[in-house]
Amino acid sequence: MPAKKPLSPSQTPLLEVKGLTKYFPIKGGIFSREVNRVHAVDGVSFHINAGETLGMVGESGCGKSTTGRCILRLIEPSSGQVDFNGQNVTTMGHDALREVRRDMQIIFQDPFASLNPRMTVEAIIGEALTIHKLASSAEAYRTRIVSLLETVGLNADHLRRFPHEFSGGQRQRIGIARALAVSPKLIVCDEPVSALDVSIQAQVINLLEDLQVKMGLTYLFIAHDLSVVEHISNRVAVMYLGRVVEIASSRDLYTNPKHPYTEALLSAVPIPDPTAKKKRIVLTGDVPSPVNRPSGCHFHPRCPKATERCKVEEPQLKTVSLLHQAACHLND
Ligand code: SF4
Repeated sequence: MPAKKPLSPSQTPLLEVKGLTKYFPIKGGIFSREVNRVHAVDGVSFHINAGETLGMVGESGCGKSTTGRCILRLIEPSSGQVDFNGQNVTTMGHDALREVRRDMQIIFQDPFASLNPRMTVEAIIGEALTIHKLASSAEAYRTRIVSLLETVGLNADHLRRFPHEFSGGQRQRIGIARALAVSPKLIVCDEPVSALDVSIQAQVINLLEDLQVKMGLTYLFIAHDLSVVEHISNRVAVMYLGRVVEIASSRDLYTNPKHPYTEALLSAVPIPDPTAKKKRIVLTGDVPSPVNRPSGCHFHPRCPKATERCKVEEPQLKTVSLLHQAACHLND
């Protein structure tokens, strides 16, 4: 089995997320009153140390992208707290938030949709330099943009081109250059390779790893399956229906999972050795609606190990070993 990325040597949290919750009201009736809620993110807590990568995985609709957007306040959280570099992001005013956003950037899943098709590459990357007044002259502006393009494997010939003239992988490189323009400390990578071919995925992940080493970046790396985050993450959090159900070092999570949902996700990760055999755990049914979540453990209707207790009692996230937490009654 290939080596997992070890724990980050830094033990200083750059980001701390405490009890983060986001619900979206569902309105109805003639008075348009709230009749129900979509519980997108439900009391999520975790931290990311400086220079570390936390992988965050789960099926679509589990709340991982909403979590990423709430951290940057691109979506306002309903409750909870996000501390970045010791500052409470959740309560800060508009001006302070704009300042702190220089240090917290995001890369989106679909690079084509996130790049303005009417802007040249120069204008796309230069926008943040202009907003934050980071270039002292036209020459400094151009030099910085060319340097950013070269950092992500593109060059000065690409300055005057438009997004549609690039391949998917190149467009994601432009998105990365745009995020790097303001020299951030943290980048939320929101499924940055999901829309790319497998061969291109590896190139973009390798680029992100190189940039992390060169620039001391910290990543929250969101993906829908464990194979994508396997080598880039120091630790991994698994989400199900708006909650973190397991969080551990990559080594622990991949070799000694403590939640049946993680076990099922792991069983779907391909093994490079064609002679090795692995039993696939096929989960029955779809992810339940985040509007009407199942009682007890929200995973119980799909869990191959569920007991009667699981239908009525909700498991809490508990420490099972050093730096390893899971929310499952089987660990009691
Ligand atoms: Fe499965 Fe029960 Fe554990 Fe939930 S608490 S994951 S239903 S065994």
